[in-house]
Amino acid sequence: MIKEEEKMFIINTYNRSPEHTLLLVRGKGTLVYDDEGNEYLDFVGGLAVNALGHSHPDVINAAWEQMNRIMHTSNLYYTEPQVKLAKCLVENSAAGKVFFCNSGAEANEAAIKLARKYMKLQAGRGKYEIITAYNSFHGRTLATITATGQQKYQHYFEPLLPGFRYAEFNNLQSFASQVNEHTCAIMAEPVQGEGGVHVATEEFFLGLRRLCDDNNILLVLDEVQCGMGRTGKLFAYEHYGITPDIFTLAKALGGGLPIGAMLCSDRVASGFAPGDHASTFGGNPVACAAALAVMNALLRENFLKEVQDRGRYFREKLEKLKAAYPGLIKEIRSRGMIAGVDLAAGAQAGAQAVQRECLQKGLLVNCIGERTLRFLPPLNVSSEEIDSAVGIFEEVLVETKKN
Ligand SMILES: *Cc1c(COP(=O)(O)O)cnc(C)c1O
Repeated sequence: MIKEEEKMFIINTYNRSPEHTLLLVRGKGTLVYDDEGNEYLDFVGGLAVNALGHSHPDVINAAWEQMNRIMHTSNLYYTEPQVKLAKCLVENSAAGKVFFCNSGAEANEAAIKLARKYMKLQAGRGKYEIITAYNSFHGRTLATITATGQQKYQHYFEPLLPGFRYAEFNNLQSFASQVNEHTCAIMAEPVQGEGGVHVATEEFFLGLRRLCDDNNILLVLDEVQCGMGRTGKLFAYEHYGITPDIFTLAKALGGGLPIGAMLCSDRVASGFAPGDHASTFGGNPVACAAALAVMNALLRENFLKEVQDRGRYFREKLEKLKAAYPGLIKEIRSRGMIAGVDLAAGAQAGAQAVQRECLQKGLLVNCIGERTLRFLPPLNVSSEEIDSAVGIFEEVLVETKKN
């Protein structure tokens, strides 16, 4: 009934189909259950949202307690969770100040507005261009599809926002060649998530930082997907030993509740004055209380080290598969608990079919593109769950060879 009514009442932007996707009703840890009581290992993880798994008691309790106190106030008034969360984020990052919103796209919108305004104040009205990477993903609003260097997200929505240029990811020379007197910022993901799990090289990111410093340009990092412990560090830029001027968070930040954040240095934060930017729901006390519970869990001793260890374990298991079936797996890319697997020519069925077959066997994975699968398990997934997931993946891969 729900599946049929979805077609009738919801605009078809997600292309869900009753035969190929599930009606999920319940989740606990890495496991989710459909309306028929079937159990699945969730290696989609709400698209990098459920970093602590489903129904984490700390997140539930924090949100529940806050809901009982006060659920929404508007930003005309102070609320405690908002300030506590901002303090926690600042104390554990390179940022000096935070702006709260409700999603990744909104966090990037805030970053784009702030970069333009700060640089115009600092260096003149002609400073407004932002260079982003091909194959990037920054969201679905008009400004963020413009920032997203993939035409498939832009087609038919033109005219796009003026003032964007694109360069090749992991190619410093390409970025350098796009810098001109109008450039105000460079924006990039430390790991391109939607674009196929491509990890920025150290050479590239150190080079971007230097390029920005040499030319008085802001470095904006989109950590919406790869932040919040996903890569084994609290924030992915920590792998490079660099400091972004602005960075954005969302997805895992609220542990399942919608919240986004744009963080920046104190210096850059001075670009915004009262009235320049706002959000009715931004910094909602329930979402902030949940996010604070997520932060506290990630900051617990050894948590991130265990993410690194389990990430390595997962990678090794996938590498063993690749070694066993070189005709089926072409390449594996990962950092911590985000992994992408490119299928080789022998896996004739393609990524979509592998995703469907995995689902039939009780494993949720995410197909991104015709030949690539993405794995985003909870950060606290167990090694037994990794074993089971890789086991199912192997079975399905072997079957696709036969078909
Ligand atoms: C998901 C994502 C976004 C968009 O976030 P929404 O909450 O869907 O608006 C932006 N940037 C990156 C890197 C993402 O992965």
